[in-house]
Amino acid sequence: MIKILKTYISDFLNLFFPVVCQSCGSPLVKQENFICTECLYLLPKTNFHLIDNNPVSQVFWGRVNIEYASSCYFFNKGGLLQKLIHKLKYKGMKEIGYELGKQFGTELSNVEWAKNIDIVIPVPIHPKRKKQRGYNQSDWIAKGIVEILPAHVDYHNLYRAVETQTQTKKTRFERWENVENIFKIKSPQLFEGKHILIVDDILTTGATLEACANELLKLKNIKVSIATLGFTA
Ligand SMILES: [Zn+2]
Repeated sequence: MIKILKTYISDFLNLFFPVVCQSCGSPLVKQENFICTECLYLLPKTNFHLIDNNPVSQVFWGRVNIEYASSCYFFNKGGLLQKLIHKLKYKGMKEIGYELGKQFGTELSNVEWAKNIDIVIPVPIHPKRKKQRGYNQSDWIAKGIVEILPAHVDYHNLYRAVETQTQTKKTRFERWENVENIFKIKSPQLFEGKHILIVDDILTTGATLEACANELLKLKNIKVSIATLGFTA
């Protein structure tokens, strides 16, 4: 009875305050959350997870020893994904990360290597920035991914020990220099012998991900893979 009443109330509210797609603005139907089916379909998939030596893994060649690496979508200026990521990072819409994370998890569940991931780690942001934003956007992407993959998320064991300036206006070397050695691990034994998937929103230079991976790779028998929602070609 309560369920029926809830549905009735939400249908009624929808008449006046329709829930719309955060990408195109069209009203959502019942099974859709935050992004409509058509927009999800239109997001440009990379399918990199199906290819071993893909452009994402090539970003890390000669820099750090990554097992597998992939991005779910191509990130184009002015594209659908940019709009969604902007809302995810600056408009408080953390659920967009969760929805896109589930999409990514579904893609990844088609490959053996991703099914063997033990722990998913969102790239940590500094507590100060987390306080400003209210959340870490990568936490929500990771949350969506493990909704589909048989792994669990660890939010705390890898942490950011130093606050850094924003990366956007820096050169490639400065970016690397800016993040080198800023990540630390609380309890190494939690990660030893595990296959870890580091998750971030967008891959640009890879400097932050490289710094995370370097810290993790100091541990015994660890394997590190990387997954980001967007890839800037
Ligand atoms: Zn839409």
